[in-house]
Amino acid sequence: MKKRIAAFAALLLALPLLAAPAPAPAPKVSLILGGDLMLDDGPGRVIAAGGDPLAGLSDFLGSADYRIANLECPVATTGEALASKIFTFRAQPAVLDIVKKRFDAVSLANNHAGDYGKQAFVETISHLDAKGIAHFGGGRNLQEAHAPLWITRNGLRIAVLAYNEFKPRSFEAGPDWPGVAWSEDSHVVADIRAARRAGADLVIPFMHWGWEREPEPSARQRTLARIMIDAGADLVVGTHPHITQGAEYYKGKLIVYSLGNLVFDSFKSDELRTGWLLRLELDRKGLQSWTTRAVFMDEDGVPSLKTTGTTPCGAAPHGRIAHCAPNQRPTTPEKRNQR
Ligand SMILES: [Zn+2]
Repeated sequence: MKKRIAAFAALLLALPLLAAPAPAPAPKVSLILGGDLMLDDGPGRVIAAGGDPLAGLSDFLGSADYRIANLECPVATTGEALASKIFTFRAQPAVLDIVKKRFDAVSLANNHAGDYGKQAFVETISHLDAKGIAHFGGGRNLQEAHAPLWITRNGLRIAVLAYNEFKPRSFEAGPDWPGVAWSEDSHVVADIRAARRAGADLVIPFMHWGWEREPEPSARQRTLARIMIDAGADLVVGTHPHITQGAEYYKGKLIVYSLGNLVFDSFKSDELRTGWLLRLELDRKGLQSWTTRAVFMDEDGVPSLKTTGTTPCGAAPHGRIAHCAPNQRPTTPEKRNQR
């Protein structure tokens, strides 16, 4: 009997705890960033024949709250290839049905967006708008080109900015003409601060920079990444070199210098056919954990997820780059050491 009374008393004591509302979970967003999407040539032919170059990435991409990649080509039927460029790309508008299925937004800040001139660039923006694919890093004028992509999900507000700094600079937007956002240091710093003032919980610059086929970031990439983090960026991600370039921390903030290619043909070596998808777990305090997943592109530039090997990953508290196998979650090194 005494036992029963004690149990009843314990239950009464516990009742207020049971009735108390559970604290609201901290707002969290999972975000995937991919490298260069070049949808002309091989990938364009695959799509024209009814294929979907992104089909093999569907489950991985579908597992995140939001997905972004760099659109490394105009999508248009107008314009003329610039005679001054060795490689020029232009994809058919139908490719955007494939992009729309897998990605929420694309960056226009790159060295191919203007391959067929300003009119084709503006046509690209119109097609993206018509499909409901968000875009940033380029616009009908300078102000539009520098406006952040705002991601508002699960109570978090994330501003993603994009800049190109690989020639030709003639692609740059002006006060009243279309083009891409250029990574002039003072302009980048002003944009990061403005995004903070406008209420961004997190600010992420998505860069198009570095030397092609160089496996290490350049001195310029390192310097600019530090300038951006000192100005208030929470992490920095890049594309363009056609190769992955590793990751490092600066003042506790992650820099992933190059994600490499995502959909792109004409590359012969394994290094150039390998890219990373970067998955970020974000909350109001910043980056909580992250992992990269390697993809390998076939002859047509069609990627599939690699199932072997390890790629960089990391968990909060920050400061150490770990390596994860496919589908492995990064562990928290500090916690493990305490045991
Ligand atoms: Zn590029």
